[in-house]
Amino acid sequence: MRPAVSREIRLRERPVGLPTAETFEMAEAPVAEIKEGQFLVRNIWMSVDPYMRGRMMDRRSYVAPFEVGQPLAGGCVGQVVESKHDRYRAGDYVLGMNGWREYWITSGAGVGKIDPKLAPIQAHLGVLGMPGLTAYAGLLKVGALKEGESVFVSGAAGAVGSVVCQIAKAKGARVVGSTGSAEKAAWLKSEAGADEAINYRDAGDLTKAVAKALPEGIDVYFENVGGAHFDAALANMKDFGRIVVCGMISQYNATSAEPGPSNLGLVIPRRLRIQGFIVTDHADLRDQFLADMGGWIGQGKLKWRETVVEGLDKAPEAFLGLFRGDNLGKMLVKVGPDAVV
Ligand code: NDP
Repeated sequence: MRPAVSREIRLRERPVGLPTAETFEMAEAPVAEIKEGQFLVRNIWMSVDPYMRGRMMDRRSYVAPFEVGQPLAGGCVGQVVESKHDRYRAGDYVLGMNGWREYWITSGAGVGKIDPKLAPIQAHLGVLGMPGLTAYAGLLKVGALKEGESVFVSGAAGAVGSVVCQIAKAKGARVVGSTGSAEKAAWLKSEAGADEAINYRDAGDLTKAVAKALPEGIDVYFENVGGAHFDAALANMKDFGRIVVCGMISQYNATSAEPGPSNLGLVIPRRLRIQGFIVTDHADLRDQFLADMGGWIGQGKLKWRETVVEGLDKAPEAFLGLFRGDNLGKMLVKVGPDAVV
């Protein structure tokens, strides 16, 4: 069962601007024999996420930078193929943080078991996993959404944004999402809970487009994109509105500092609250999140999409695709076949 080597993708060099194929390198590492208290996992799925761009830089942040010459890491779902651990058996499905490789050995720290009967296993990297909890904690705790309020979401057709739209809808909000294609905008309206959807690539003046979609103004703005979206949202905020700053993907590859919003002064007369957050600070909400999500899924209020790229060697392309908008819903990489045990 144990292979001699495991393929893995390493950070070859730190990117400046948009990463390229040169940023990554495929390598092979020997797979050791497992010791007492350890188990060996074969990855089936791995996640590519925008935050990984930040980890490619050598800077102080909430998570350590990736090391040049070392394998990248991130969310993954796999199956235990050999175990000398009393709580894990061959055949168990697990969620871990050892993506970007085929096999990994662990003593179980930071690893959780997955019940494959609950949902497709890869849902734990998306709607039932980190992006889903980000949407839930950001909208309901940080944004303190109240029944019947109005919500504007940028990056609305992605993993986080599409869950934000649907939770907001389930809470009775009027929801407007912004995204980068007509196809994604149509999906937001037909399936993902948006009352209106803006295709920011052909919307012209974004401030006017948001005003037209939400003439009453915005109570909660869920920020995934930054730049012109931040300006447009600020201009349309209601008094005492909340801006939840989840991400600013439009700036992750910038090579020089972007100017801030030209209308930031509006926070004073409109008495706005702007708050950033990191999902890992809200792990205490996990049980409540899973219970609520289970309920909404059962009631047909929560749907999700996945964009799947096949093969570990294609993981860099999948990652780069996040910055081109290649994905509808969660971007995933299928690393290996489903069950073999
Ligand atoms: P997505 O699934 O939303 O994928 C990224 C999407 O961003 C793309 O599909 C694209 O969609 C959009 N995008 C890319 N570049 C630009 C650009 N220059 N301008 C506008 N839109 C762009 O990713 P996630 O759902 O995983 O993440 C969404 C955001 O949430 C990111 O900013 C991420 O960093 C953040 N995040 C923050 C967390 C936290 O703890 N604070 C945790 C998880 C995510 P389109 O076609 O619509 O342009």
